[in-house]
Amino acid sequence: MNRIPELFGTMVFGDEAMRERLPAHVYESFRRCLEARQTLDLDVADAMATAMKDWAVEHGATHYTHWFQPMTGVTAEKHDSFISPTDDGKIIMDFSGKELVKGEPDASSFPSGGLRATFEARGYTAWDPSSYAFIKDGTLCIPTIFYSYGGSVLDKKTPLLRSSDALDRQARRILALFGNTDVNRVITSCGAEQEYFLIDKELHDCRRDLMYCGRTLFGAKPPKGQELDDHYFGAIKPRVQGFMNELNLELWKLGVYSKTEHNEVAPAQHELAPVFTDANRAADHNQLTMELMKTVAARHGLTCLLHEKPFAGVNGSGKHDNWSICTDTGENLLNPGTSPQNNARFLLFLVAMIKAVDEHQDLLRVSVATAGNDHRLGGNEAPPAIISIFLGDELTDLLETLEKKETYDPKDHADLNLGVDVLPRLRQDTTDRNRTSPFAFTGNKFEFRMLGSAISISCPNTILNTIMADTLMQFADELEGAEDFSHALNRLIRRTYREHKRIIFNGNNYSDEWTQEAEKRGLLNLKTTADALPYYISDKNVALFGRHAVYSENEVHSRYEILMEGYAKTLKIEAHTMLEMARKDIFPAVCAYMKDLSSTAMQKKSILPDLEADLECSLLTRLSKLSSDLYRLTETLEADLAKASTDADCKEVAEFYRDIILPDMQNLREVADEIEMLTGADYWPYPTYGDLLFHV
Ligand code: ADP
Ligand code: MG
Repeated sequence: MNRIPELFGTMVFGDEAMRERLPAHVYESFRRCLEARQTLDLDVADAMATAMKDWAVEHGATHYTHWFQPMTGVTAEKHDSFISPTDDGKIIMDFSGKELVKGEPDASSFPSGGLRATFEARGYTAWDPSSYAFIKDGTLCIPTIFYSYGGSVLDKKTPLLRSSDALDRQARRILALFGNTDVNRVITSCGAEQEYFLIDKELHDCRRDLMYCGRTLFGAKPPKGQELDDHYFGAIKPRVQGFMNELNLELWKLGVYSKTEHNEVAPAQHELAPVFTDANRAADHNQLTMELMKTVAARHGLTCLLHEKPFAGVNGSGKHDNWSICTDTGENLLNPGTSPQNNARFLLFLVAMIKAVDEHQDLLRVSVATAGNDHRLGGNEAPPAIISIFLGDELTDLLETLEKKETYDPKDHADLNLGVDVLPRLRQDTTDRNRTSPFAFTGNKFEFRMLGSAISISCPNTILNTIMADTLMQFADELEGAEDFSHALNRLIRRTYREHKRIIFNGNNYSDEWTQEAEKRGLLNLKTTADALPYYISDKNVALFGRHAVYSENEVHSRYEILMEGYAKTLKIEAHTMLEMARKDIFPAVCAYMKDLSSTAMQKKSILPDLEADLECSLLTRLSKLSSDLYRLTETLEADLAKASTDADCKEVAEFYRDIILPDMQNLREVADEIEMLTGADYWPYPTYGDLLFHV
């Protein structure tokens, strides 16, 4: 295992490989362009392409691909080989700067939300030099952005990069006010903790719901679930450990800082946490992690389920997005300082976050909205759909004290004293204890816990960056114009806290009291994706995205449409899968069982006419009634599915699925699960919850 430092990043064309292989002036010019965010000269790109190709070929690659993140939420790649024919009928391995910098995959089948409708199928990919290229399965993968002929974004990376720029711009204005002029760049750091389930592949392949939908649509509760809490942090089983070891090796080779692994709350559930890195790479790395989890699992005869709620009745899977803002000089701006000056700066960033989250609860909810995640949010296992901030008692008390200190003491003026010289050192272990909060301050970072396990972290981070940028912009506008900086700063911190403290809640977010209290405080509670998404395109939000050049109005609308349609499509697939399973598998199974029951009853009677056949008859009666109910419910679901309009507005369609189809599916499931409890195991057509959860 002492090979690991040497192994780490071997499949990445990172800084070291570049320095080694590029002529010094090319390397310097590449770095300069990267720092200044300028486009590369073509000769630099050519030299880079050649070095990258030579490196890749030496490492066994035969192909390259522009690796991008379309709106499907998964990554996309189209492979081209490096071969290029020569005059003598042979080939050379070739790769040009042009091919590195720009590509044109056929984009017609990626979701565009109408953005491309008028511009045929053209979509372009462009190299993102801020994330390193890497080799996966013999292919050089070049991280790229993806946009349409008209220049509109079609992917998840571009807005993240734009929002990072916006945050950088505004945060540096604030830093300048505090005299921190040595900072060239402000960066958001992220560490995404990833939860997942591992189940046996053979069992998985027996269930169409898992195959088509990634979650079970039927399934009676097993006698044992997670009630004993014996899985959480329990000893890891050998087969799972084998999977984790291989996954770690693969991730390390790709430069992913895979760090922590443990069993989670539900049986068969696990978690992987990386060491944090900048948001752009963290997003790429999380996509790679999810992809590798799937491929490595298959090699171990396992299937990795990334769905937010694969099993009813046991915990679902989420993703915790640990987020902080750092400078290129190595300072974390969410770290309480050790001097009054730095404390004041910390408090300003802290209240900025409080204001940003309060004013944009809607967008944070939107950023995690998917049909799968709706099953978790508010399910007493995951944070509720209500956004609030956990600060911990120490910080809350401090802000309360500051707020009450109404009078301005000129003594404060000289040294920026805000009434606290040095903040109490915040202990991570006390600030981290509230696991029910959707948005928790954990000592030197925020932990956004509402993300579903399957989603890309790009959108939540885009939103966090943008709302923070906007708040910092307002703060900078106010403070830059102030005659007396200290005074203005003092007032701003107090006022912001007073106006937005309703968003702070340190109690139990799972309790019913909180739901009522949150309503009194006027906080949003957007229960489903269909409820949340319309906020994406509100005037407030379109203006916000426009102000910081994160999305144009068209781009926000396209995202809204893609997500709204995605919601309805997901439910549609699930509903059709249920129909198929009920009709093709469950009915025949229960009929076979009823047939055997009735023939047993008849045989008993024919041998001994006086013999009671109570058991068979009463079971038969119950099953017969339940299967008629099931049959009727499939008819209802089918009829309702036929009513779902295909040309109505996407919001109407989504609402129809939410209000009509989802309850139909729930009703159908309840009856099927009851039938499962009564039917002989040999007759039941699928592996049960018990088989799936406890088999590995
Ligand atoms: P848990 O939340 O389960 O207690 P940890 O606190 O160990 O787990 O992990 C939290 C995650 O937060 C890790 O991925 C870690 O790298 C990340 N993290 C730590 N500090 C920062 C920071 N300043 N910015 C962003 N992420 C961070
Ligand atoms: Mg966590």
